[in-house]
Amino acid sequence: MADKINLYDLDLPELVQLLEAWGEPAYRAKQVWEWLYVNPVAHFTDMTNIPQLLREKLELSATLNVLESVSEMSSSDGQTTKLLFKLADGQLVETVRMDYETRHTLCVSTQAGCAMGCVFCATGQMGFYRHLTAGEIVAQVMFFGRRLEEGKRVTNIVLMGMGEPLHNYDNTLEAIDRITAEDGLNLGARKITISTVGLVPAIRRYADEQRQTPLAVSLHAATDEERDRLIPINRRWPIDMLMESIRYYIERTGRRVTIEWALIAGENDTIEQARRLGELLSGMLVHVNLIPLNPTEGYGGQPSTRESVHAFQAELSRHGVSSTVRVRRGIDIQAGCGQLRDRVVQERAQQLKRQKETTTQN
Ligand code: SAH
Ligand code: SF4
Repeated sequence: MADKINLYDLDLPELVQLLEAWGEPAYRAKQVWEWLYVNPVAHFTDMTNIPQLLREKLELSATLNVLESVSEMSSSDGQTTKLLFKLADGQLVETVRMDYETRHTLCVSTQAGCAMGCVFCATGQMGFYRHLTAGEIVAQVMFFGRRLEEGKRVTNIVLMGMGEPLHNYDNTLEAIDRITAEDGLNLGARKITISTVGLVPAIRRYADEQRQTPLAVSLHAATDEERDRLIPINRRWPIDMLMESIRYYIERTGRRVTIEWALIAGENDTIEQARRLGELLSGMLVHVNLIPLNPTEGYGGQPSTRESVHAFQAELSRHGVSSTVRVRRGIDIQAGCGQLRDRVVQERAQQLKRQKETTTQN
C-alpha cells in the first residue's frame, strides 16, 4: 500500500502523464479524473467506462483509499461525525463532518500532530509527526464527498483539524487548488477557511498570493505575557509582528480576517484581556469568533462561564469589534482537534498493557 500512488496526489496533467506512460490516450485520464472528483467512487471496479485491463493496472499500482477508517463516532444529535484515519505509514489523523441544514462542513487535518505546542490543544500536546501530502488532505475531503447522500455535496471546509496549515504551506495550498479545480470537485475558494496559529512570514506570503480562501488567525490572547503562556510560537512572532502581518494581509487582499479566541476561565476571559483585544482590533476589518475551551487531557484549563463570555463580548462591542459566540459542537464525541486520536491511542496502550500483564501472569 505504501508504494502505491495515491491518485489524489496528482493534478490532471500529472494523471494524463501517468496514463500516457502506460500508453493510454489523454481522454482516459479525464475519465478517471471524473471518477475521482465529479462522480467520485471508492473502487476502480466502479469506474464503469474504463476498460477492465486498465482498471486492473490501476488497482495494482494506485489507490483511492490511502485513508483507512479506524474509528468513527457520531454526536448524540447526529449532526457531527468524527473519523480517525490511519495513513499508509500508520500515522493517525482526524476529520470531522458537521451538518447544519443544507450545509455540510468538513474540518480537515493538514499534519499528523503539530509542532506548535499550544498548551490547551490535544494535537499540540502530542507533538509533530509529519506533514500530510496534498493527496492525503484531498483524500479526507473525498472520503466524505463519496459518502454523502445523493444530491448532497461538501459545502464548506475548515482547515482546523490536526496540524498547522501554514507550516505545511505548499501541500496545503496544492490541496486547495485540487479541491477548487473547476473541472473537478469545483468547491468555491471562498468556502475554504485556513486557520493559522500566526506564522508571520507565511501570512505575508499568503497575502502576496492574493487568494480568495479566507484566513482565520488563532490569537487567544491580547498581551505577549498571556500569549507566551498559551502559544509558544508567540515568543518567535509576538503580537505586534502578528498584528502587522494581519494588517498587511487585509491591505493586500481587502478581505476580512477571523480572529479565533478559545475562552479559558480565569485565563484569557477577563475584562482586561477583552479591553486589550478591543484596542488591538478596533477599526480593523476583522470578526472575532469566541469559542468556549474544549477541555483536554493534558491541560487543566476550563471553559468560561456563560456570564464571562457575555461580558467579554460586551467589552468587545464597546470598542466596535464584532464577535460571535460559537458553540463547540460534538463535545460528546471528542470533536476538539486531536482528541479522538488521543482517546484511541490511550485505549490501545491500555489494551497492550493488559495483554502484557496476562502474558506475564501465565
Ligand atoms: N493550527 C491551526 C489550525 C488547527 S487548530 C490553528 O491553530 O489555528 C483549529 C482551532 O482550534 C484553533 O483556533 C485552535 O486554537 C483551536 N483549538 C485547539 N484546541 C482547542 C481546545 N481545546 N478548545 C478550543 N479550541 C481549541
Ligand atoms: Fe497546532 Fe493549532 Fe493545536 Fe496550536 S492550536 S498546537 S497550532 S493545531
